[in-house]
Amino acid sequence: MNVLVVNAGSSSLKYQLFDTNTDAVLAKGICERIGIEGSKIEHKNLIKENKAAKEVPMADHSVAMQLVVEMLTDAEVGCISSMDEIEAVGHRVVHGGAFFSKSILLSDDVLAKLELCRDFAPLHTGAHIMGIKGCLAVMPTKPQVLVFDTAFHQTMKPEAYVYALPYEYYEKYGIRRYGAHGTSHRYVSAEMAKILGKPVEETKIVTCHIGNGSSISAVKGGCVMDTSMGFTPLAGVEMGTRCGDIDPAIVPYIMEKEGLSTAEVNEMMNKKSGFLGVSGFSSDSRDLEAAISDGPSNPNYERASLAVNILKHNIKKYIGAYAAIMNGLDAVVFTAGIGENNPHLREIICEDMEFFGIKIDKEVNAKALRQPNTVKLSTDDSKTAVYLIPTNEELVIAKDTAALASSAK
Ligand code: ADP
Repeated sequence: MNVLVVNAGSSSLKYQLFDTNTDAVLAKGICERIGIEGSKIEHKNLIKENKAAKEVPMADHSVAMQLVVEMLTDAEVGCISSMDEIEAVGHRVVHGGAFFSKSILLSDDVLAKLELCRDFAPLHTGAHIMGIKGCLAVMPTKPQVLVFDTAFHQTMKPEAYVYALPYEYYEKYGIRRYGAHGTSHRYVSAEMAKILGKPVEETKIVTCHIGNGSSISAVKGGCVMDTSMGFTPLAGVEMGTRCGDIDPAIVPYIMEKEGLSTAEVNEMMNKKSGFLGVSGFSSDSRDLEAAISDGPSNPNYERASLAVNILKHNIKKYIGAYAAIMNGLDAVVFTAGIGENNPHLREIICEDMEFFGIKIDKEVNAKALRQPNTVKLSTDDSKTAVYLIPTNEELVIAKDTAALASSAK
């Protein structure tokens, strides 16, 4: 089945056309600056290996979707002859609140519930709704499926998702742990469970999705027991520009000392902290690694090392904590931009972890970057398996969409 996967942002719309019979991506592209002057679409046909880019005004997401269909059906760079060949559309949705524990076919009721999730992720949810409405305008009769980043985490028990705040805030405002990157954690944990070769119900896996935004999950028996992101994606481990877990009392303290407003302190924790805040020069792990490998002669060496060591320390603690709540550990998985491409960080995380049965092959690990496929990093005598599994959230969205669209026929 040909499924169009759409990831709509407030001024952008990324898309991939999948053939779900073969899992192949036929074409992909991005519309940028939607609703802003200078809008453009970039498109790649991965079968013919050609591409096109066009600067054309896009007043809204409906115009963008119309252009996507034009590119997909274009005689030169297109891969289908008409819109009829797109059988369903799958949307990535960042936040489904407590309403959605799995992917779902779009309906009026679903759209109304999604509206209620706006408060949790205002920018993202508003953009998703524009993307969905754009698709409805261009292809009103196609089945559309919503796939939520929060859904996989809905198996957590209240003891993992309720904060020790007055309970009325949970009841009144839905303040609880929701987690993020669920589609990625679901994909890599399922791949890891297949490799372990035992019934999924018996598996205990820690998945480390480490990118600009990072989250760690405990996946026991195929279900999330806990995850490091919380009410918002600010919680958990140190990230590119986000602080992760801090003592909450620091917030009013800094606000008072620096005279910051709530918006300013929010901006500081989301945009000026993490790697950027600690290193003082970059949020990108490649820049930090370059400074570290230069050694102490590089003026950024010390703070870059500190920034990376904080993340290492955070992740080690999560692995230990999650092994404790799962009462065991079969595997640790690394994925996403940093997890897949930063051997140094993986090595220092796995160092001195024999207590947890973790032992990696340093040579294999050092070479494992920019790999399109799964790589086993642990040694044969490591009690706990350690793997690099490239994530593929779009494939999960395409497959869920195909399954739900087929069942609706
Ligand atoms: P996002 O959370 O925005 O999806 P990514 O998963 O793309 O982020 O991760 C971005 C991080 O991954 C950056 O810190 C970047 O340095 C790192 N990264 C991405 N690709 C590579 C690469 N090829 N080599 C080293 N680091 C990489």
